[in-house]
Amino acid sequence: MNVPAHSRFATDLEAMALAVEQAYQGFGRTAPNPPVGACLIANDGRVLGLGSHRGAGQAHAERTAIDQAQQLFGTNAARGATLYVTLEPCNHTGRTPPCTEAIAQAGIARVVFANKDPNPTVPGKGAEALAARGIQMIHQPNDAAERLLRPFRQWITRRTPWVVHKIAFRRTHENKLSMIPESQNTFARAESLRLAHELRRQSEAILTSVPTILADLPKFTVRHTWDHDDLSFKRKIMIVSSRATGLTVETLHTVLPVTWLSETRAAGFEVLLSPNLEHALSTLGQLNVHQVLVEAGPRLSEHLASTRTAHENVVISVGEERDFVLRTLANKS
Ligand SMILES: [Zn+2]
Repeated sequence: MNVPAHSRFATDLEAMALAVEQAYQGFGRTAPNPPVGACLIANDGRVLGLGSHRGAGQAHAERTAIDQAQQLFGTNAARGATLYVTLEPCNHTGRTPPCTEAIAQAGIARVVFANKDPNPTVPGKGAEALAARGIQMIHQPNDAAERLLRPFRQWITRRTPWVVHKIAFRRTHENKLSMIPESQNTFARAESLRLAHELRRQSEAILTSVPTILADLPKFTVRHTWDHDDLSFKRKIMIVSSRATGLTVETLHTVLPVTWLSETRAAGFEVLLSPNLEHALSTLGQLNVHQVLVEAGPRLSEHLASTRTAHENVVISVGEERDFVLRTLANKS
């Protein structure tokens, strides 16, 4: 990780944007942990260290930022500095020691954090523990940091994933809308295509249906944008089969093309099957899936809409000259 040596971060908002950027790099790969980003800033605005959490068992973002600062600028580098972090630092020993300890030991004077820890089972909050040790704690809510934490928040409180429903339409010559098969890269703009693939990168699972696979033989791989490297888990493809066929993962090949199944598994996916949407979502939750992307045909999409299952809808309408993207959050209150 390179520290932007010549940058100066004058405001808390600028510095938090840098921490969010770090968190974004891990978005979609950290489960069962949340994505977290951190940066350590000297009093003159210099960046001392950056940290991006890379997944369970890996160092937390705060610790990476502190380590980097100490390696680059000496053991006292963090003394008196400000740590910006997208999530309240942890105060419990999990697979790694608590970040509160590392922060206090490094002599950090001030911590600005964007999200409070949403985990209801965490024993003891990091902000209180650090404040008790004389460190100035500032909770500064940040929309982008909050957005990155939503899938984790959904999963840790409900044990089901955040559901993103992607729907792509094409306007026909008769000026009607028709859904675009997943296999077709017919978006007019490269940005729409990139968005569709970014959504896959950010999701640990894809939810689809048997007809969609039969019609399109979709790949579901991340292309047209960067992907996470060395994922510590397999991305999942959850196939919802509405028919009471007695179909199992073992007998899927009786209805799905064998080549599609073997190619999909070879591409690193775990293929799962569920009899209905509710069961599919609770199963994915049990498998630590924080965010699921729905890429399905009209029937499953209709069902999702009528049951108001999606938390977020991404509608891509493809026109002759330009695409129209509408991203909305469902009102679930
Ligand atoms: Zn931590």
